[in-house]
Amino acid sequence: MSINVRESLQKINIRGEILFDQPLSGRTTLHIGGPAEAVVVPDTPLELLSLIPHLIREEINYTVLGFGSNVLAPDEGYQGCIIDLNRCTRFSFRGRYLFSEAGIRLEYLIQSAAELELSGLEHLTGIPGSLGGAVASNAGSFGRDIASLLEWVDFIDPSGKLRRLHASDASFSYRSAPFAARSIILEAGLRLQVGRSTEILSSMERARSERRRRGYYRHPSAGSVFKNPLGLEITAGELSEQVGLKGKSIGGAQVSPEHGNIIINTGNATSSDVRQLIQLMHRRIEEETGIHLEEEIRPLE
Ligand SMILES: Cc1cc2nc3c(=O)[nH]c(=O)nc-3n(C[C@H](O)[C@H](O)[C@H](O)COP(=O)(O)OP(=O)(O)OC[C@H]3O[C@@H](n4cnc5c(N)ncnc54)[C@H](O)[C@@H]3O)c2cc1C
Repeated sequence: MSINVRESLQKINIRGEILFDQPLSGRTTLHIGGPAEAVVVPDTPLELLSLIPHLIREEINYTVLGFGSNVLAPDEGYQGCIIDLNRCTRFSFRGRYLFSEAGIRLEYLIQSAAELELSGLEHLTGIPGSLGGAVASNAGSFGRDIASLLEWVDFIDPSGKLRRLHASDASFSYRSAPFAARSIILEAGLRLQVGRSTEILSSMERARSERRRRGYYRHPSAGSVFKNPLGLEITAGELSEQVGLKGKSIGGAQVSPEHGNIIINTGNATSSDVRQLIQLMHRRIEEETGIHLEEEIRPLE
């Protein structure tokens, strides 16, 4: 471990926790990834307003990790500092508005909104990520994404400054959000609708059982490997199945036998196994169908 990251972080005053040599395999849903040099767990989002400029000044690489459900972390680990927002989970409702810090588990917000008979989030039931991770990738399912509920997002930009993005002025699109690399989403405001709790709860249950039926939770994975091709009637999973990739393995990584757009860790997969399998899928689909797919899983860098 490079001594200056440890020394540098000891110079700053953080009320939260600073951990060293943390295995990323314990922080990603694929259970893959070597050690992170440092993990900073701030108590409040505002602590990042001094930490991030410090990291920029000291030229320390950093990134934010939510629940690790959409990332591929390198086997060699991460040189630099991972920001973990799992203590930044305060939220409140005002009328139909929900204001929340980014580290909270999406599932918890959905349940809390349902208890207040507030509807809008339930189609996201079963996505195993944080609010910040969902906003960063414009997560969605069953044809709706989180951007359709957003009013504003507070984030730290890559120069370390706090900014507010008004969703009405921003261009979110399918699995894509308008934040530059190394932006850190701190809080968001969402507008929900008044609903009936029986209907909200039953659509949550429908979403959950549909995901179970598709086998999403049977093995460790990072969700969809590729975005669906826009403007075509066929999904990435169908394309993968069509070219015979279902069940294909490299090392411990396998294209799920149940879903052609999911790679599972069968027990001892490495990041390199997954990377090679993604490349093979990419190549095979492009060669046999002429369709170029864009990756949805993000490398942790
Ligand atoms: C079984 C399963 C089912 C899934 N189903 C769906 C689905 O239906 N729809 C869907 O869209 N996704 C789905 N996913 C993918 C994933 O759960 C979502 O993309 C989720 O929103 C990621 O949140 P996270 O907190 O885990 O983010 P992470 O995986 O930790 O991070 C993902 C990316 O977002 C960045 N990030 C995380 N937090 C922040 C933040 N606060 N500020 C800035 N950047 C941030 C990270 O740096 C990284 O680049 C699924 C995954 C699994 C394993």
